[in-house]
Amino acid sequence: MAKINSNYDKLAAGYLFPEIARRTSAFLETNEGVQVMRLGIGDTTEPIVPVVLDGLRQGVDKLGNAETYSGYGASEGVESLREAIATQYRNGGADVQASEIFVSDGAKSDSANIQGIFAKGNVVAVQDPAYPVYVDSNVIAGRTGDATDSGYEGLVYMPCREENGFFPEVPDGKVDLIYICSPNNPTGAVATKDQLATFVEYARKNRAVILYDSAYAAFITDPDLPRSIYELDGARECAIELNSFSKTAGFTGVRLAWTIVPHDCVAEDAEPGKLHALWTRRQNTFFNGASNVVQQGGLAVLGSEGLVQTGEQVAFYLENARIIREGLQSIGITTYGGDNAPYVWMKTPGGLSSWEFFDKLLGECHVVGTPGSGFGPSGEGFFRLSAFGHRQDVEQAIASIQTNLKL
Ligand SMILES: *Cc1c(COP(=O)(O)O)cnc(C)c1O
Repeated sequence: MAKINSNYDKLAAGYLFPEIARRTSAFLETNEGVQVMRLGIGDTTEPIVPVVLDGLRQGVDKLGNAETYSGYGASEGVESLREAIATQYRNGGADVQASEIFVSDGAKSDSANIQGIFAKGNVVAVQDPAYPVYVDSNVIAGRTGDATDSGYEGLVYMPCREENGFFPEVPDGKVDLIYICSPNNPTGAVATKDQLATFVEYARKNRAVILYDSAYAAFITDPDLPRSIYELDGARECAIELNSFSKTAGFTGVRLAWTIVPHDCVAEDAEPGKLHALWTRRQNTFFNGASNVVQQGGLAVLGSEGLVQTGEQVAFYLENARIIREGLQSIGITTYGGDNAPYVWMKTPGGLSSWEFFDKLLGECHVVGTPGSGFGPSGEGFFRLSAFGHRQDVEQAIASIQTNLKL
């Protein structure tokens, strides 16, 4: 008799975005003709820039010619793309080799899959609030107990609150796998070098591994903030980094990302090279590589003109973030993030819960955002607004909040 993986039954989530959709359609049913404005989505909205479209077209054209046609490639990705990514890191002062880069079809899937090369008994620590996949993938793998009001049993939550500038202290006890996302989704906070150094030191001392999600690194404009964890001494020994073309190049629907497992990276029972070998084996066994068409597009992103054009698009979203941030501040709302990240993390006014504020914002202003409590217990009392949107839509939504929100 077949039995299911009953860890799936522990999942409390699947709850956030369906619940947002449910409340939004319920509102629209009783308020016919009202136009709802969305500042809730973590998805890009602007068209792919011309030079990257050319790259994608080149990828297609190659497939139509017997001389340039290619089928399966290396599951780690085409060499020229791995080289181009490594060069980007080295230009930013991070020591990364092409052979350490594993090109993939998404940082979400990689961040869900990476735990699979680690033992079931590892203790997992996550920032709270967090991008849900870090938690859910470990729940499914059986590294937690049941969900309670304060989170999953057995999972170590590292609160990110106003008091600590939305970056956690290192855990008191010994943990083994540590998820850090910077710039952070949902809080928009960016870890400084000093803050990251505390975790690198902790990880090296405990032979723990940091899983560092830098999907929003391209949104960092402050030159003092690290774009990669490998800008820190010692990080190559203890950190795996994940990044993606999704938010930088509008590839959320195109799909292209990468994970870096340094040759030097170790674990309690893994000497240098072992983790790299395990992820190689995992990818060779389970994955047949990212699309060759799309990898050609990725190469265009990293060309000199591609960096200029995608950089302008990132700046466009950051300008949206500024409009949101300053618009909210002008009516006395406390906000965080939104300067080196495409998310503004606002404190709900009047001590409302995240969901109470969701209903109020929808009812009074017709604006949909994302309740902070959906990202973890410490997100309660906060609310995420996303800078991904057309300019006019963002301006309309903020104007409506300024005019209609009853404070
Ligand atoms: C959007 C996002 C990603 C990117 O995921 P893809 O699967 O590459 O589209 C990764 N991490 C975080 C925190 C994100 O918000």
